[in-house]
Amino acid sequence: MSLTQPIRTTCLRCSRISTPVSKTKTSSPSGLAYRQFTSSSSSTRSSWLRSHPRLALTILGLTLPTSYFFFPASPSLTPHTYSEQPISSTQTLSPQHKLITVPISQPSTSREFFERPYRTDGSIANTEGGEVVVQHMMIKSPDIQIERPYTPINDCLDDGEIRMVIKRVRGGEVGRVVHNLKDGDKVGIRGPIPTFSIYPNQYDKIIMISTGTAISPFLQLLSKLPSPSPSSSEVIPKLHLIHSNPLEGREDWSNTTIDKSFLPNLQDKFGDNLQITRIDPGLIPKQVIVNSLQHETKSNKDQRVLVLICLPPMLMRPLCGSMTPNLGQGPITGILGELGLTNKQVWKLE
Ligand SMILES: Cc1cc2nc3c(=O)[nH]c(=O)nc-3n(C[C@H](O)[C@H](O)[C@H](O)COP(=O)(O)OP(=O)(O)OC[C@H]3O[C@@H](n4cnc5c(N)ncnc54)[C@H](O)[C@@H]3O)c2cc1C
Repeated sequence: MSLTQPIRTTCLRCSRISTPVSKTKTSSPSGLAYRQFTSSSSSTRSSWLRSHPRLALTILGLTLPTSYFFFPASPSLTPHTYSEQPISSTQTLSPQHKLITVPISQPSTSREFFERPYRTDGSIANTEGGEVVVQHMMIKSPDIQIERPYTPINDCLDDGEIRMVIKRVRGGEVGRVVHNLKDGDKVGIRGPIPTFSIYPNQYDKIIMISTGTAISPFLQLLSKLPSPSPSSSEVIPKLHLIHSNPLEGREDWSNTTIDKSFLPNLQDKFGDNLQITRIDPGLIPKQVIVNSLQHETKSNKDQRVLVLICLPPMLMRPLCGSMTPNLGQGPITGILGELGLTNKQVWKLE
């Protein structure tokens, strides 16, 4: 992708973002590394401790619990370490879907990686310059040590909270854990971790194609984009979301007003700038894509169009070709390849 190619790989998505920690290390005579603590008064202090052992223990006994009470371990949200975060609300959207909310107001350091988001290559995104980073979180099961990624549907920084829709699949471990959570319970969580990033104003049109909970990265992207305002000089691309209807008998939760990041509210926010097309479950019809591209004047190769795709492999393959086994993008084949779109204009999400 020419200027704004979103970069996203699984290993980076799930990998730890390490913050350099500077330590003064030196080698002991035995060859083991140790941290050097030096102080000119250390020998004076140790002789005082030797001569007043009871007093020293009493002071220690009084200060340790007090300091624990006043300065408990900080449960900051960070991409690289799990912390136990409280669930402020859980809401059942359907027998398979639950909406959970995790506040990020306390401690204030939890906001850090939302305020200064990373790109997938580990560099800091240029949010002042209009770059938008879509992020996800990792939730772990306390019973067996596995983790799964989940995508907030909202602009977490603006709302001061993370809201995620979690689908429970048959035999699924983390889905089971989350669906058993009640308001006030805690969950092991780390993040935010970058999923992809784009400069939206570098496109004339952004097309998003999804089914089921794979709509979440697009709900987040749409929540983060500013609403079009006639007075603003900001260029907002035309937005087109192509999302499948649920299977018969299943709830169409994203089409309700239960959450402000769901479709009816986003439609209000963007007005004519956002087109939402609902399609039947199954293969993505070619005509829907042709219609979405036809209003563009330039040839498909020259268009400033970005097609973001979040579909299961069996639907992604005929539309644009599979991702590679190591979750690389792979060539653009299928319907989008036939229409002349290239890797510069298409981004596949797992
Ligand atoms: C970047 C990213 C973001 C994601 N965001 C979300 C999100 O916002 N909400 C969400 O619900 N999920 C999301 N997922 C999927 C999620 O991470 C888990 O894969 C899913 O919830 C299953 O996890 P589990 O531990 O419950 O089930 P597992 O124990 O992993 O799976 C149990 C069984 O279910 C099958 N299975 C797994 N997933 C599905 C599925 N979707 N449909 C049918 N069968 C399945 C498995 O093959 C296995 O047989 C995301 C995935 C990625 C990669």
